[in-house]
This record gives sequence, structure tokens and C-alpha cells, in this order.
Amino acid sequence: MAGEPQDDCLFCKIVAGHVPATVVRETDTTLAFRDINPQAPTHVLVIPKAHYKDAAALAAGAPQLAADVLRETQAVADEEKLDSYRIVFNTGSGAGQTVWHAHAHVLGGRGLQWPPG
Ligand code: C5P
Repeated sequence: MAGEPQDDCLFCKIVAGHVPATVVRETDTTLAFRDINPQAPTHVLVIPKAHYKDAAALAAGAPQLAADVLRETQAVADEEKLDSYRIVFNTGSGAGQTVWHAHAHVLGGRGLQWPPG
């Protein structure tokens, strides 16, 4: 069922505390933790605690929760004192999505090129 924890989902395991992560923020509905393979001086992932496979499923199935995630990306940027930063939702394997639990990458602390690779 949409939103239910999935046994085979890495990020559901992080939410449950079964896989370690460096958590920087937590709310009732979201978790923010440092990416294990950072691509910038600040690279934080913001996830809904509930399981949605990607940003599209999150936006369609739980728009308020999608708003919570976006609000938290802003809170992370503020805490990290980023004046410029990028929010990325890789959606689909062709776009580089490797973990099938919606997540926003918050990237900053260095110059970022456009277009992205
Ligand atoms: O957008 P994508 O699905 O590729 O992002 C998944 C991200 O999760 C990667 O940047 C990867 O480094 C990160 N990750 C993590 N902790 C893990 C496993 C993956 O931060 N234990």
C-alpha cells in the first residue's frame, strides 16, 4: 500500500534505525541525512518517512508530504548557510535514480554547473 514501509528499501531501513545515517534534521514526517558519497561540500538527502518510490509518486499520492520535503530542503540550506544550492530529485533509472524511495538531494558549498551531467 502507498506510504507503507518496504522490507527491501534501504531508506525505509534508515527511517527505522536499522541502517545508520548521519541525520541532520528530523520532523514527524521527514528525515534529512548526509549522503554517504557526497558530490559537494554539502550533500544532504531529504526523504519522506513514508515510502513512495519516487518524487512523482510522492507528489501524486501525498502532496502535503511532498511540501514537507520541500520545506525541509530549505531548512537544510539555512542550517548549512547555503546562499546558492541545488535541489535534485533523480526520477527514473535513466536520470540516475538508484534508491527507490523518494529523496531530494540538497547540494551546495561549491559552484554548480548548468546543464548538469
Ligand atoms: O538519486 P539516487 O537514487 O542515485 O540517490 C541515492 C543516493 O543515496 C546516492 O547519492 C547515494 O550516495 C546515497 N546513499 C546514502 N546512504 C546509503 C546508500 C546510498 O546516502 N546507505
